[in-house]
Amino acid sequence: MTFTLSLAATEERAATIRAPQTDRPVPFIDLVPQFRAMSAEVMATVEKVFTEQKFILGDEVVGLEDEIATYCDARFAIGCNSGTDALIIALQALGIGEGDEVITSPFSFFATASSICRAGATPVFVDIDPESFNLDVQAIEEAITPHTKAIMPVHLFGQCCDMEPIFRLAQKYGLKIVEDACQAIGSEYQGRRAGVLGNVGCFSFFPTKNLGGAGDGGMMTTDDPELVGKLRRLRVHGDVGQYEHLDLGMNSRLDSLQAAVLRLKLRRLDEWTAARQHNAQRYGELFRQSGILDTIKLPKIQPERRHVFNQYCVRVLNGQRDHVMQQLKANQIGCAVYYPKPLHLQTCFKHLGYRPGQFPEAEAASRDILALPSYPELPVADQDRVASCLAQICHQSRAEQQIRRAA
Ligand SMILES: *Cc1c(COP(=O)(O)O)cnc(C)c1O
Repeated sequence: MTFTLSLAATEERAATIRAPQTDRPVPFIDLVPQFRAMSAEVMATVEKVFTEQKFILGDEVVGLEDEIATYCDARFAIGCNSGTDALIIALQALGIGEGDEVITSPFSFFATASSICRAGATPVFVDIDPESFNLDVQAIEEAITPHTKAIMPVHLFGQCCDMEPIFRLAQKYGLKIVEDACQAIGSEYQGRRAGVLGNVGCFSFFPTKNLGGAGDGGMMTTDDPELVGKLRRLRVHGDVGQYEHLDLGMNSRLDSLQAAVLRLKLRRLDEWTAARQHNAQRYGELFRQSGILDTIKLPKIQPERRHVFNQYCVRVLNGQRDHVMQQLKANQIGCAVYYPKPLHLQTCFKHLGYRPGQFPEAEAASRDILALPSYPELPVADQDRVASCLAQICHQSRAEQQIRRAA
């Protein structure tokens, strides 16, 4: 991925902070080094798949399913075409559809809620916890109605939701749990991996996820032997063989090519996760040293978690996020907002009847959140440049505020 600088951004840069002209751009994410480090292996595996000419499902997919099941400590894993499809198929397999409600977070990627609608059910949002950005578990019970059939916690940015209260509610009200673990492969809650913290766990292999393929891909995990046949069937038109269709399924098969590449990458996932965790820890130290923790609130690892940092997101306090983002971009430093508009305020969900102000924490998070470059191969020099530039921006804007206040 390259970072192109717009004319407006160039002018802003000239008008504001003078970064040393020799500094090269810091991309938000760069997938090239990861490929470069394993290109011979990847190309050999691609060649093998082409030689065999078996492109859909097959041995590579079965192999990946076994390895993902082992990695997640799950009894079964079922490959499919995307994380979005994994969520839809999981809901369908659990019998959730028309007239049913599924409780989830308004602060997530769109597919969390759209999958519920695609399954024919209705998403019911509850606010988030401001510290973890995950579902506010205190708010869930109030949202339960006689139509509620499931809870879909999202392990946002790679950190597991607080699952214990969710287990209790699921038990008390007879609800299913579908984990949106699309950002959270390898993350843990009380020593258990994402993917086995509910009835079905859903993963994405979108190229920018921690385990990213060479295109779209997804996986479902479950411990339930009664569910596995249905999950498998629903990804192939509900077919049980001999063109006998038991359910109205989808075309959501995983490609052999994807599976073959993902199997190679899975072997390095723990190493990459460690690099992401190291980046996160180092950002924290650098921001502390530069004295900007009054403006930049660090992500907090919750108790009993393994956070895999699919994104490293800080909160920019005092309404400074857009200013900070614009200044970083003017200095050719990539950054991103996940997510600028909470799901309950999206146009396509207007009919659900939510209002601005209804979920203040999700709305505040949308205004404050900022993701910084933290991919596993991020060069130390690039991270240093992000940190020093951010420090400069924060100190300058603090100084400007003081002048304004004094005037
Ligand atoms: C990426 C993502 C998805 C969707 O995965 P795709 O493979 O892109 O369909 C769903 N939920 C969350 C939280 C995600 O980050």
